[in-house]
Amino acid sequence: MDDVQRLRRRIQVALGQEPADLVLKGGQIVNVFTQRIEPANVAIVDGWIAAVGPYDWKARETIDISGRFVLPGFIDPHMHLESTLLTPAELARLIVPLGTTAIISDSHEIGNVLGIPGIDMLLSASDDTWKGSRLGRGDGRSRRAGG
Ligand SMILES: [Zn+2]
Repeated sequence: MDDVQRLRRRIQVALGQEPADLVLKGGQIVNVFTQRIEPANVAIVDGWIAAVGPYDWKARETIDISGRFVLPGFIDPHMHLESTLLTPAELARLIVPLGTTAIISDSHEIGNVLGIPGIDMLLSASDDTWKGSRLGRGDGRSRRAGG
């Protein structure tokens, strides 16, 4: 399935023309755009959110999340990952359950000490972090700019 087909499927699910893989039903959505908490369901396809709203989407699996909150993952916009003295996988194990789902790593320290091999080592260890992740890429491609 190519990207266009995947996008087409998400749109069809959002329009109610095809069942979602998963619907989170009855939750309270923390809308960071309106700064309000709103009751809504969430339709998920291929690990992506296809739709959020009051609609009753059909799905292969539905999870009742009544009384729970759904909100975007936090992004730490500036972190020196190597200063934590943790591997990326161990850092993820500790912060993901608390809501941080992405970091912007300023990895100049390892670059200053080990140069390009250090950066490559960090990237390689970060790739391992996503392997087996339900929502991560898991394809092992480098995320280095230009790489
Ligand atoms: Zn910095």
